Amino acid sequence: MASSSSSTGARSSSHGGPPGYSPNPSPIPYREQPLAYEPSEDCPCHKKAARWISWSNANPGRRYLTCQRSRVGGCRWWRWIDDPTTPFLCQLLVDLRNAVNNLRRESTQLRGVNADLEMGIEDRSTQNNALRDALRKMKERN
Ligand SMILES: [Zn+2]
Repeated sequence: MASSSSSTGARSSSHGGPPGYSPNPSPIPYREQPLAYEPSEDCPCHKKAARWISWSNANPGRRYLTCQRSRVGGCRWWRWIDDPTTPFLCQLLVDLRNAVNNLRRESTQLRGVNADLEMGIEDRSTQNNALRDALRKMKERN
């Protein structure tokens, strides 16, 4: 587990950026929007800090505050809200995160396969109608 020897674990870290974002986007939608928390806390540029959830391997499910404009020219300030969780829950959350992401990937693939199959059915159906017409005309001639 990275960082933090003290037990509060809720101070800014000077090394590394905020713990969130890719390659670990949230596997689930947030129940609350990043700015929908109280009491409000400002970053050094006097804007309400945004509250996010880390999905990193080291700190899954751990909330932190960061400049709401951190990705578009804001400041680099951030701090943890929650203390680190237990190694067991850490691993459990990482496993769940990976399971959700794998299912999501699989679902996307299957949707693609399904779309291909539906197109195939449409093509076959068109061919089938053409053959049926041809057959009818042959029968009419005889
Ligand atoms: Zn800021």
